Amino acid sequence: MRDMVNLRHDEVPDRWYNIIPDLPVPLPPPMDPVEGPSRINNLPNLLIGECLKQEFSPESWIDIPGGIMDLFAKAGRPRPLFRARNLEKKLDTPARLYYKGEFYSPTGSHKVNTALAQCWYAKQQGFKRLTTETGAGQWGTALAYAAALTGLKCTVYWVRSVFNWKKDRLSLMKLLGADVHASPSPVTKFGKSLYDKNPQHVGSLGIAISEGLEDAEKDPAATYSLGSVLNHVLMHQTIIGLEAQKQFEVFDDYPDVIISCLGGGSNFGGFALPFMGEVLKKGRKIRFIAAQSRVAPNLQGTYQYDFADYAEMTPMLKMYTLGHHCDMEPIKGDGLRYHGCSPILSLLRHEGYIDTIAYPGDEKHVFENARLFIQTEGWLPAPESSYSICAAIDEAIKCRESGETKVIAFNISGHGFLDIPGFRSVLGLE
Ligand SMILES: *Cc1c(COP(=O)(O)O)cnc(C)c1O
Repeated sequence: MRDMVNLRHDEVPDRWYNIIPDLPVPLPPPMDPVEGPSRINNLPNLLIGECLKQEFSPESWIDIPGGIMDLFAKAGRPRPLFRARNLEKKLDTPARLYYKGEFYSPTGSHKVNTALAQCWYAKQQGFKRLTTETGAGQWGTALAYAAALTGLKCTVYWVRSVFNWKKDRLSLMKLLGADVHASPSPVTKFGKSLYDKNPQHVGSLGIAISEGLEDAEKDPAATYSLGSVLNHVLMHQTIIGLEAQKQFEVFDDYPDVIISCLGGGSNFGGFALPFMGEVLKKGRKIRFIAAQSRVAPNLQGTYQYDFADYAEMTPMLKMYTLGHHCDMEPIKGDGLRYHGCSPILSLLRHEGYIDTIAYPGDEKHVFENARLFIQTEGWLPAPESSYSICAAIDEAIKCRESGETKVIAFNISGHGFLDIPGFRSVLGLE
């Protein structure tokens, strides 16, 4: 009776899985809006060259360069797959529950997987500095970490409303050597236009993106980096699901249900897409469930072309979206608060391969289940990952009622040690 499986260092997958050629219908390409300059022609100025190539690659498998494999090892890959036996007992469910431990991350989230890859490619291309935006803060921390390891500078524009309460994350980014600005900031032209009117402006992801883009465009030694939504980001994250497939072989088991939380789709895609490939190519039957918040249930929006950012600087992507000017109430699982879902996952949802559930914005039900998880399994999940746990527990309870012995696999995208004030305020832990 195993409770945990990990891989040997030499068993870690050394190729990423690109699902694009295996999709049931062709992926709609990005599009320019009718008016204004071409955003598509500007993509080489926004993205790292190798990442842009990967974004449209027709190859099913892409070799992971040795330098990136070394960085993955430094960041603690492979990461274990656990059987949640204590939680099963507590729930008195006949279901078998498994979770992937992306919380074993030096910055607390799965985002280091793509941050390390992007920094390594940026370094190869001769860049000296990366700029980015961050909302919840996990992406900014991951990029600061990856930049430090690859000898690059890193500038982060961080939405002020979150910057103000995540003091520990701010200190961690600074310890890693990043320049961090609350956004809107006085250091970019666009930011200053808002900052001068109101130095306490709460900011938004869209504003922060505009600041990061402006900064990178002015400096030829700098490039911009994105942490979710795009095809190459999901592909870098497939290391999660590819490891999990090998680990399930050792457990001699296979999932019937795959669950993860979904903001822009990078951890969901990373965990689910290798399994989705087996559904599409080998006729495997798996139910996929994306756990979301009712403040940003983008998978319940409309499937149409929309901008990825508020300021309309990106091309338009065909995706499930709530509209790029949608107002979304702040939540503690702030990483799930994004208006659109990755084009790949949107297409799969449109074709009927992905179900979704959205939990109430007060987050009580979600965090109560996170509490049940830490009290049985011992790990503190990130606020976002708590949605994954919550959906898995809800499914396991349905199995108790129906008597079904399903195998439920869920991804825990990060740990919550830097986000405890969020749990404190929702659960009243004073
Ligand atoms: C950013 C983040 C998410 C949400 O982003 P996705 O791209 O949808 O994965 C979820 N969990 C954690 C821990 C995050 O940092």
